[in-house]
Formats: sequence, C-alpha cells, structure tokens
Amino acid sequence: MRPLDIQPIGGEIAVRWEDGGESFIPLETLRRACPCAGCKGEVDIMGNLYKGPDKPLSPAAFQLVRLSMVGTYAVQPVWADGHDAGIFSFDYLRRVAEAGDK
Ligand SMILES: [Zn+2]
Repeated sequence: MRPLDIQPIGGEIAVRWEDGGESFIPLETLRRACPCAGCKGEVDIMGNLYKGPDKPLSPAAFQLVRLSMVGTYAVQPVWADGHDAGIFSFDYLRRVAEAGDK
C-alpha cells in the first residue's frame, strides 16, 4: 500500500492511500511512533534491546517542519526540535494510522 498524497493539515497529517482510503495521523502520534534507534532502541543479535531513558519531548517535538520522501518507499519527518532520524516506511505509516483508528 502506497500513499498517493500526504499533506500536513493543522496538527495532523492527512494520507490518501492508493486504495482510496484516507488516514489522519496526529503529529504527536507520529512522533511517538518514531522508529529510529534513538526513540525505539536497538536490538542486538542476541535479541537484547538497548534503549536510552525516555526523554521528555518538548512541544517543538510535535511540530512538523517538513516531510521528505525517502526513495519510493518511505517518508522522513523533520521535527521542530531538530529530530529527523525517523524513517517511516509506507507499511509502517499505515500501521501507525490503523493503530490510531482504534
Ligand atoms: Zn526518533
């Protein structure tokens, strides 16, 4: 599933999928779902998770500066606190969107 269009609208991003469905993902949800190693931790080959303590996120952490496309498979949000390490594959973005619907 690929998005045809992604638009930041207010405090959300609106995603129009190729099947015609639309998702609205709050920016806070998107930031908290950041899949980068710094936010989600890294798993070593033994399956141990290494993760720093949760840092409190400033309000700027939930403000989107821009959303860059990564190749043809992912988007990379740039946040107002300077964080830009999270690469959201379209599959992952879809899962985040569906988790938010429930
Ligand atoms: Zn992150």
